[in-house]
Amino acid sequence: MGGLFGVASKKDCVLDVYFGTDYHSHLGTRKGGMAIWSGSSFNRAIHNIENIQFRAKFEAELLEFKGNMGIGCISDSEAQPLTVRSHLGQYSICTVGKINNMDEIVAKAFEHKIIHLMETSKGVINPTELVAAIIDQENSFKEGLLKAQELIEGSCSILVLTPKGIYASRDKFGRTPLIIGKKEDTYCVSFESCTFANLGYIYDSELGPGEIVLLSPDGVEKIAPPKDKLKICSFLWVYYGYPSSTYEGVSVELMRYRNGASMAKNDDVEIDMVAGVPDSGVGHAIGYSNQSKIPFGRPFIKYTPTWSRSFMPQDQDIRNLVARMKLMPIPELVSGKRLLFCDDSIVRGTQLRETVDLLYNCNASTVHIRSACPPLVFGCPYLNFSTSRSEMDLVARQAIIELEGKEPESLKEYCDPASEKYDAMIECIKKRLNFSTLKYQNIHDMRDAIGIGKEKLCTYCWNGEE
Ligand code: SF4
Repeated sequence: MGGLFGVASKKDCVLDVYFGTDYHSHLGTRKGGMAIWSGSSFNRAIHNIENIQFRAKFEAELLEFKGNMGIGCISDSEAQPLTVRSHLGQYSICTVGKINNMDEIVAKAFEHKIIHLMETSKGVINPTELVAAIIDQENSFKEGLLKAQELIEGSCSILVLTPKGIYASRDKFGRTPLIIGKKEDTYCVSFESCTFANLGYIYDSELGPGEIVLLSPDGVEKIAPPKDKLKICSFLWVYYGYPSSTYEGVSVELMRYRNGASMAKNDDVEIDMVAGVPDSGVGHAIGYSNQSKIPFGRPFIKYTPTWSRSFMPQDQDIRNLVARMKLMPIPELVSGKRLLFCDDSIVRGTQLRETVDLLYNCNASTVHIRSACPPLVFGCPYLNFSTSRSEMDLVARQAIIELEGKEPESLKEYCDPASEKYDAMIECIKKRLNFSTLKYQNIHDMRDAIGIGKEKLCTYCWNGEE
C-alpha cells in the first residue's frame, strides 16, 4: 500500500508535510519521500524506512528544506516522489495504487516516442515514472491526469506538485480516498484524515471518484468533476485505515464498533473475555464486548519500545518471528480462561496460529477467533499490499484445495455462508490454525457497519464480484 499527503500554503509548509506524511506510516513500510517547491526548484529526498521511522530519517531535510508547497508519500514499492522536467514544465509526482497493465501502457508510450523509462536492477519500471510518462504525452496536466485515469487498469490516486499548485487526482473508482483539509492560508490533501487534528486542519471536502482539483495557497480549484461510480475499498475500514480517520463520512473506529457489535449479535459462544488482536482487531473487539456485555481485556500486549512497526524483513519466517516476539502474554489473564479474539481478517493465518499456540502454552482453556470480515478468497487486483496476498497464500484458498484436491472451477459456493462448502472450508481453516471455534463476519453486516450503500463499496477480495 502507501499513503499521500500534500500542502499548499502562503507560509513555509515543510513541518506540515513532514508530520502529515509521517502520519501515513501505517500504510507502508519500505520507502518514504518528500518534495518541496522552493520557488525555483524542488528539494526532494527519498529514504528507505524499513528499519527506522519516517520522522527519524527525514530530520535532516526538516532543517534543510524550505518552501510553501510540498508533497510526501509512504510507499511499499517504488521510490517516490519523482521530480520531472517535461514540456509541461517542472513537477514532482507521487502515486498510490497498482497498475496491472504496465506492459501495454509502456508499449503505447514507446509508440508515442517516449524515449525511455528507467529500469531498476531487476528490470522493473517505476510505476510512478510510468504515470509521469502518460501525463507528459498530453497537452496539460488536466489532460494527462484524465488520460492516466483512462489507461490504468487497477487503481491510481496521484499528487502532482507544480509551481502553480498541487494537482490531486483520485482513482477513477475512488478505491483509495483523497481528502482536503484547510486552515488559515493553507490547504492540504491527504489519504488519511487523521492527519488533520494535530496539524490544525479542519475538514473541507473529499474528492469523488476520478475527481481532479488544483490546490494553491488561495484555495481549491475544480479541474475535472467526479465520476458516477464509486467503489471504495471496504478493507480500509476493516483493517488498514487509521482508527481516527473518516472516509465518505464514516469513522473507521465507529465502523469497527458497529461491526464488532453485529458479530456479537450473531454469536452465542461461552467466554470469559473478549480481546482484539492488536492493533486493528481492537476496535472490532470493543464493539463485540459492548454488545455482548462480556468484559474486554488485553491478555497479551505488544512490546513497542524497541520493535518499530516499520521493521518488516523480507523473509516471511523472520516476519513471523518478529510478530511473535512483539506479543507478550499476561499469564494471569490467560490461564484457565475462555478467550475470544477479534482479528481484522485472516490472510495466511500463520501469525494468528502462533499467537493462539502461545495462549495455549499459557494454559488458556479455549481460544475462539472471530474475523471482522468474510474469508479472503481472492487476491486484491487494485492495491499493493506489503505482505504477500497472492491468492494461493490465502488460508481460505489452501483450505479449498485441501478439500477439493485441486483448484475448483467455481469458488462461488465458498463465498456463500449458507452453503455446505463454506462450512467445510471454515472447519478446515479452524483445524489448520488450531482454534477452538472460528467464525467470520458476513458480508452484509460488514457492509451495513460501513453504511454507505453496497453499490459504492469494493468487496472483490471476499466475493470476486467486480
Ligand atoms: S479487492 Fe479487497 S482489498 Fe482490494 S480494493 Fe477491493 S476491498 Fe479493497
